[in-house]
Amino acid sequence: MSNSYPQKLQFHIDGEWIDVGERDVHHVVNPATGKVISDLPKATRADLDRALDAADRAFPIWRDTPVGERAAILHKAADLMRERAPEIGRLMTAEQGKPLPQAIGEVTASASHFDIMAEEAKRCYGRVLVRPAGQNSFVKYQPVGPVAAFSPWNFPVFTPVRKLAPAIAAGCSIILKPAEETPASPIEMIRCLVDAGLPAGVAQVVFGDPAEVSSHLIASPVIRKISFTGSVPVGKHLMKLAAEGMKRTTMELGGHAPVLVFDDCDLEKTLDLVVTGKFRNAGQVCVSPTRFYVQSGIYDRFEKAFTERAAKVAVGDGFADGIEMGPLANPRRPSSVGDMISDAKSKGAEVMLGGHRQDKDGFFFDPTVLSHVPLDANIMNDEPFGPVAVMRPFDTLDEAIEQANRLPLGLAAYAFTSSLHTANMVGDKIEAGMVAINNLTVSPGDAPFGGVKESGHGSEDGPDGLKAYMVTKAIHQA
Ligand code: NAD
Repeated sequence: MSNSYPQKLQFHIDGEWIDVGERDVHHVVNPATGKVISDLPKATRADLDRALDAADRAFPIWRDTPVGERAAILHKAADLMRERAPEIGRLMTAEQGKPLPQAIGEVTASASHFDIMAEEAKRCYGRVLVRPAGQNSFVKYQPVGPVAAFSPWNFPVFTPVRKLAPAIAAGCSIILKPAEETPASPIEMIRCLVDAGLPAGVAQVVFGDPAEVSSHLIASPVIRKISFTGSVPVGKHLMKLAAEGMKRTTMELGGHAPVLVFDDCDLEKTLDLVVTGKFRNAGQVCVSPTRFYVQSGIYDRFEKAFTERAAKVAVGDGFADGIEMGPLANPRRPSSVGDMISDAKSKGAEVMLGGHRQDKDGFFFDPTVLSHVPLDANIMNDEPFGPVAVMRPFDTLDEAIEQANRLPLGLAAYAFTSSLHTANMVGDKIEAGMVAINNLTVSPGDAPFGGVKESGHGSEDGPDGLKAYMVTKAIHQA
């Protein structure tokens, strides 16, 4: 099935699909085989200037297009995404590695984000302030302007949709640079918008050298807002670039999600959820459940049962039936995860399961469980972004909350308990943008998604996600 991947890819500027021509290319690799499957054109500076010009020209026209028309295009694009999900999912599995059902699920979930933002935009009401008769003061929300957005390779369609949907719904134009490693599925997502009738210039998609593209776009006076999903160091770098022009930013950066498992939880249900959740997308998820703090009374039972279940996770090519975990997405991941495991072992962690890159083509890694991991191990401090669960026991609620909050990161956090008091305390005291209790759902689309501390700032999704693409204006009439 991966044979259907296009051998030549295109980018999209001002309504035109653009071929490689004389441009440099990036070789796209199938992570299940390690083989090159396509060539992706890299945008030149002239291409980027053309994209900026197109976004600049399209913005005032799109801003003044009635919200109902903007919403109708987003709904139509959502319908096309659902129709084309099997085909777009196949491209994603070929370039990113995740099992096909997960890839198709990502596309349909992304479609619903277009629907949600289409409806949010219609209800983005301002307010009228109390003034004496004959005077009026209004507060209005207006689109911020052309946006530059950068999305990563772990969710090649979902992460850009979280930027495109609110930007387009709000009336902004946008230039998107998805990750070069996973280009075909976001290209097809953009094609859904184009086929749904999105006017030329409203959304462009470009690829290139990430640092060159971002520095060129962010420096342009055309761009008014930057949205990035990726690592903390790159997020900090882009914020510095944005500061030069005092540009608004949304930064969705790394996490290292704590999972607090209390003695009084429903153990079977907890295990069902967390083992599936841990190995989803091979753990390459910013909200992946990772640091398992398990209360002493059930630590041994939890560790044993988790390990038994993890040992049964079916690892293989994401196109094969029944596969639950594909390869890691690129050659950087197995070596980075492997280094973290070696470091943890050398500092005293017990390897309960796995721990190695698999001896076959592609970038496959064992589902891995590490127990009694010391706090000074790198893996307790930097997110592994791979299929590794790290475990430590705790005794008291206060200790669990202290451990959950000990890192400078705060994206998602999870807790499993049957005590309302514990649930309330965890919900209130954990420093994280999202806390899920007795479940792992943190991105339903209608709720804010974003981090605190070094995990970033600004929310994606829901009404907050739409407002991130708008500026607030007060108008006073005497
Ligand atoms: P990286 O830091 O080099 O890149 C992260 C992402 O940023 C990639 O998509 C990359 O294309 C992009 N990028 C890199 N430099 C850029 C620049 N100057 N301008 C614009 N975009 C740029 O790391 P990586 O090896 O791709 O991933 C490693 C780490 O990144 C992971 O361990 C994880 O912590 C983090 N990450 C987070 C997410 C997320 O969903 N928050 C997604 C992917 C990666």
